[in-house]
Amino acid sequence: MKVLLLGGTAEARELARHLVGHDAVYSLAGATEKPAIPGLSTRIGGFGGVAGLVKFLRAGGFTHVIDATHPFAAQMKRNVDLAVADTAIDAIHLIRPAWELDEVARAADLDAAARTLKSGSRVLLALGSRHSETFQSRKDVAFWVRSIDEKIDQGSFTYITGKPPFSVEEEKATFQKYGIDTLVMRDSGGAEGLAKLFAARQVGLRVVVVDRPVVPQSLVVKSVQEVLQWLAAS
Ligand code: NAP
Repeated sequence: MKVLLLGGTAEARELARHLVGHDAVYSLAGATEKPAIPGLSTRIGGFGGVAGLVKFLRAGGFTHVIDATHPFAAQMKRNVDLAVADTAIDAIHLIRPAWELDEVARAADLDAAARTLKSGSRVLLALGSRHSETFQSRKDVAFWVRSIDEKIDQGSFTYITGKPPFSVEEEKATFQKYGIDTLVMRDSGGAEGLAKLFAARQVGLRVVVVDRPVVPQSLVVKSVQEVLQWLAAS
């Protein structure tokens, strides 16, 4: 058995720790400058689409792929399904459960979220800084964008540097410091990301939640434990 583990999430780091000592490679996209690397053989950077992934899997003699990328990393999920189709390689997607939220405005995607913003509002985009482009059309709105790596402010976009997780108190302090009245976040699931929602409720912000992308998926599980069971049964 040889495993390719696609990471970028806390669950992937946990799986990587379980795989230490096994024939496994941990893969990151290279999205952050200083990623946490567990004690597992690691490669960083895209594979070059489906064709590149197929080539990588064949050359490395991989038998199993664990996709533990973020719930919004839709492209990588599609690539995995296409790359392993018609091969003997087994693949599994670990996607943490979505939140069940009430009293929030839902948006089908980022474009819809941008349209729903009220003119003159002061918005925190808690989406990952790479996903803020869509909002540039809203010149009538001021944006604060949270980013792990430092970024230079541009026009109505102010960048706030910080590495999650943030506590409810830290989130409230951020909202108050910048006079935020609206929070845009994604339905990422997991306990960590909920602090901003609780904080937003406490200070009475308007909350817009972007739904998960619909992705064609083969085998999908919701927990690290289920992935380990799948591996043990293979
Ligand atoms: P994406 O749109 O699904 O993927 C874009 C491209 O990035 C993929 O086609 C692939 O490039 C490369 N890629 C993605 N994950 C990779 C991995 N683990 N190892 C090697 N290459 C990878 O994904 P994304 O939204 O850009 O996210 C990139 C990474 O950040 C993922 O690992 C994800 O888990 C993590 N992350 C994403 C979010 C988010 O909001 N989307 C949040 C937290 C963490 P090639 O086609 O060249 O192979």
